[in-house]
This record gives sequence, structure tokens and C-alpha cells, in this order.
Amino acid sequence: MSRIQNLLHRHQQERKQAGEEDVFPNRMSCGEYLELVSDYPEIAQLAPARLYNAVMDHGTEEIPEQERWGEASQRYTFFADSMYGQEEAHEKLMQFLAAGARRTETGKRILLLMGPPAGGKSSIASMLKRGLEEFSEKIPLYAIEGCDLHEEPLHLVPRHMRTSFEEELGVPIEGDLCPQCRHMLFDKYAERDESGDVVEVRWEDVPVVKTRLSESSRVGISTFQPGDPKSQDISDLIGYEDVAKSARFGKADPRSYSLTGELEKANRGMIEFIEMLKCDKKFLWSLISVAQEQVIKVQGSTFPQIYTDTVILSHTNQPEFEEFAQEKEPALHDRIYMVQVPYPLRVRDEKRVYEKLLSESNLSHIHIAPYALDVVSMFTVLTRYAGSDICEDPIRKMKYYNGDRVSEDKYRDPVDLRELREEGRKQGEGFFGISSRYAIDAINTALVREDAGCLTPRMAIRAMQRHFEHHMGFSEEEVQYYHSLLQETKEGTVTGEYKKIVEKEVTKAFLRAYEDLAREQFDKYMRNITAYCRKEKIRDEFTGERQEPDEAFMRSIEEVIGVTENRKDQFRQEVLVYKATEQDFDYETYEPLQEAVEKKLLHQMKDTLTLVVSKDKPKGEEERARASDLYDTLVNERGFCEVCAREFIEDAARFLSQ
Ligand SMILES: [Zn+2]
Ligand SMILES: [Zn+2]
Repeated sequence: MSRIQNLLHRHQQERKQAGEEDVFPNRMSCGEYLELVSDYPEIAQLAPARLYNAVMDHGTEEIPEQERWGEASQRYTFFADSMYGQEEAHEKLMQFLAAGARRTETGKRILLLMGPPAGGKSSIASMLKRGLEEFSEKIPLYAIEGCDLHEEPLHLVPRHMRTSFEEELGVPIEGDLCPQCRHMLFDKYAERDESGDVVEVRWEDVPVVKTRLSESSRVGISTFQPGDPKSQDISDLIGYEDVAKSARFGKADPRSYSLTGELEKANRGMIEFIEMLKCDKKFLWSLISVAQEQVIKVQGSTFPQIYTDTVILSHTNQPEFEEFAQEKEPALHDRIYMVQVPYPLRVRDEKRVYEKLLSESNLSHIHIAPYALDVVSMFTVLTRYAGSDICEDPIRKMKYYNGDRVSEDKYRDPVDLRELREEGRKQGEGFFGISSRYAIDAINTALVREDAGCLTPRMAIRAMQRHFEHHMGFSEEEVQYYHSLLQETKEGTVTGEYKKIVEKEVTKAFLRAYEDLAREQFDKYMRNITAYCRKEKIRDEFTGERQEPDEAFMRSIEEVIGVTENRKDQFRQEVLVYKATEQDFDYETYEPLQEAVEKKLLHQMKDTLTLVVSKDKPKGEEERARASDLYDTLVNERGFCEVCAREFIEDAARFLSQ
């Protein structure tokens, strides 16, 4: 045997083995199918239930209180790994599918996802399609052999026998045979007497086949994109009369019709209807009869309407939806179940979107410097905010949204997040601004142009600045605002925030090298205030002389954290009380004092730090050693590579010298 034959043989063996173990045979009679349904009723579930279960199959998890955004309290694992900050949309979507599975009025509508461009509407649609495909590998479905609609075999059960079968199987039987299957049934499985009258129909002998939902073969999953409204032919959606055949069989014969529209293909699964509100009204009415009555009405045909079982998922953007909402067509409005899919408004969600997009792109080998995606995310979410009376500073609002501790809260009333969100929601927040896809395009362009191996924050900011200048679709006002968000010299901008990050990060790395010094200062301060509060003298370490506590030294530390002369006694007492109640009281555990000592140290050593990070100035032995320490800390502990660590230190030098 050749190697190819060998392989083929092995493949056949495997298939045979798999076939023997499979409880779901590939082909059988309708009678056998009924037995299978009584053992595995889930193979006969309706499309909305199937879609619902495909999602639920991956499980759910409770969202911790502090991570919640809006009303959603649980996360569907199915969506969780690739869509961020859209939990509310997922929850509403699932409520709809659950209603559809129960066949309640709410579920008998067209599902419409409404959101800004590139905000994730089509991603939801494609995930659901993929989910359906995968789920049908696990829980297969069966179809009448040869039917264009891959029809549910239970339709073969005659009306008068349905109640007893439903009771026996525990499964409701909904819908009637399609005209073509009906024709086939009477043509091939009916016994007739001499005069040609039907005496018996052996419906239970009709073969049924195992079917897997598949978008590429258009089985149970289809997509419809309306073209030009004037020339669009509705037969693409619902099928058509084949004139050549109707000349032969007659107009009344089901064989004269081609049941190959996208709606027929979508039977048992779902159809994605792109930009539904752009298309002609007659399309909408067709969809509504599918959603509401589960029937397709084929134009011009004289045979009964065709039963169908599918989920219609459509999407549209906000301007079109608003136009539609203003039209006086209440009957249409009532039949639509709208789910809003806004852009993420939290930095944390937006950042995960980029991580995901980059890991899937052809740039996955690029090193992403720490904070590069943070600055991009800050920028894009800021473009999505409306003005606020509750919190005027957008940067502060961004921190509230993100659930960060806002340090100014020590001094003023914290903001009620719920109120803040509600205020934003009323102004359409999440439906305007820059999309993640746009930002990723900008980054891609920059990386390719600069032929860089690493995406740094500085490069990301530059990419944003350049990109929207050459991009259509922004008003002058918008471009101006976007620019101002990236300005370096201003407070309350993305670059301003980046500056703070750099200072904090570099300082932290720098102070690590001076930790011994910091501890020393901390201990000295503690000795001094202890003596001060007890009204004692203090013994000098070197001379052994007893002296008054060093007031100038104590004040130098207190002043950097804003402890006034009037409050100094109280502050010193507080520190001692805290020390008495805490078991391990030291430099690390008492934050206010640590902050004070570090600030003071940094103040003293600002010149040294500037020297350490600067490129041009000549450096002494000491600075060179510190510079290499700083660099090592960034590379070994903070996730920088050699390229971006250097750039980060350069940024620090520039900011510090300003
Ligand atoms: Zn059929
Ligand atoms: Zn790097």
C-alpha cells in the first residue's frame, strides 16, 4: 500500500469506529428518529432554544460588585473571552433568546443590534454563528433527506397523531411540512387503491439525515446584505418561481418554486440581516411574518406559506434607527427587539479589546510596551464621553468609570457613579467618538511605517495624532478636541496622564535603589516624634549627646504631604497611635509616611535623577550605576524590553526637565 492509501485506510477505520460509537446515526427512518427523540429530546429543540443553549453551554459567572458596569450582574463565558464591557448587551440578548425559546410574544420579534460603527455588532453575530456550528457538533439535529430547508422530521407526523406523540416524546411539534416535502411524501410514500385514492401514507419510512449547522454550506446559518434598495430582489431572501418549471408543472405545483432564499437556508438556525433599516419596507414585512408567525410567504405562489424556525438577527447604526423610530409605523416598531451595543467606556475594557485585536493580527510578534495600550485606551474612551455637570474633569470621570481610586476624594465629596453614568447615557455616551478598530488601524500604520519592533506609548500617541488628520468623517471641532486630548503641555490630557505614569514608575524604580536611605529617614522621623510627644530629649547616634528633637527635620517631611504647622502635633500623635495599634509597623505598612519620605527623598535627589535619566550630560560613577539599576528594574521587573525601557527613560528625562 502506498503512503496515501495507508493514510486513507486509517482514516476510514477511524471513521468506522467513530460511527459505531456514535449514538447519533447519520441516516435513519423517521420512525427511528422518533425513538431517538424520546431518548434525546434536545436534538429536536427549536432554533432560539438551540442558540440560547449554545451560549449557556459555556457557562456563566457572577460579576464581582466592584467590576459591574450598568445593570448586568453576570458574565457569559461564551462572550467573555472576546468582548469586553458589553455585558449589558449580552444579558438583554440572552433574555430575548430565552423568550424565543419559550415562544412568548417578546421572543417573536426581530432582534436588532443598534450601535456605533465598528462597535462589535457584527462580532456578536459571527460569534453566535460559530457558537451554533460548534453546538451542532455536540447536539446534532436531523433533517428530512433532500429538503432545501433541512426541515425538522417531526413535521412528518400527521396532525391527528401529534398530541399523542408530543405526550410520548415530551417535545412540542410545531409547524407543517414544506410544499416540496409534502409533494415528495405523496409521490413516493403513499399507497393508492385502484382508483388512485390514497389509502395509506408511510410517513415513518421517510429517510432523515444527521445535519450540522454550517455557515459555509449555508445550512441553518445565512447572511443577507441588502444591495441597492431599488434593484434589490426579494427572491434572494424568500425564494422564487422558476418560470421554466412552472411552464411544465403548472403554477400550483410546489416543484415550480425554488426554495433557496436566505430565509429558507437559515431554517433551524439564524440569519444575520446586515443594515436592515436600509432596505425596502417589503423586506421588513417578510421578516416580520417570519419572526411573528414563523412563516415565509413566497410571492406569487399558490401553495400555503412555508413554516420556518429561525432567529433573525439584524443590525443598524444609530442615525438610521432614529430615522426609523420617527416614522409612523407602530406595527413595525412593535415587532423589533432592540439591543444597544455601545463602545466600551472604561479604560480596562477598551484595553482588553486592543490586546485581543493585536494578538489576532499579523502584529502579534510586536512587543507591546507597558502603558502603550493604556494611553490608546484613555484617548479613545475620552472621545466617547459627553460633557458632565457632575464631574467636569474628563480625566477624573474616566477614573470613576474605570473604578480607580480618585485621590482628590480625600478632599471633596466622591461622585455617585450611577448618577454619572445616567447623565452620560442620556447624552448618548458610547455611540460617538473613535472606535477601537480605528485606533488599531492607526497603530498598524505607524508600526509598519516606522518598521518598529515595539509599540511604545510615545509612538501610540503619535499614531493617534497623525491618523485622524488624514481621515475623513471628523468635523473640524472634533479634530480640535481630539488634538487637545493629546497635547503634552496641558494638565488633564492623555499625555498629561502618561507624564504622571512615567514619573511614578521611574521614581519607584529609582527609589528602590535608595530604599536603605528611605528606611533610615523613616526611622529617624519616628525617633524624633516619639521623643517630641513624650517631651524627652534624643540621644545623638554618633556623639551620644542628648539634644532636643530635630524640629526642622520633622517639618521637612511633614510639609511634603501638606501637614500644616497647626496640625503637626495632631499628626505626630496619630502616627504614634497608629504605631501602637499595628503589630508590624514599619516603612512599608504606613502609607502616608512612606509617601512623605519618598517625596522628600525625591525632592532632594531630583537633580541626581535628572542626571541618571538624561542622555547628554556627563555622568559620574554613581549616576552610571544608578542608571543601569533603573534600566534593569524596568526590564527585569516591569515588562519593558530594551527598546522601550530606553524610550521610557528618555520620556522621564524630558518630563523632569520641563
Ligand atoms: Zn421540506
Ligand atoms: Zn518593548
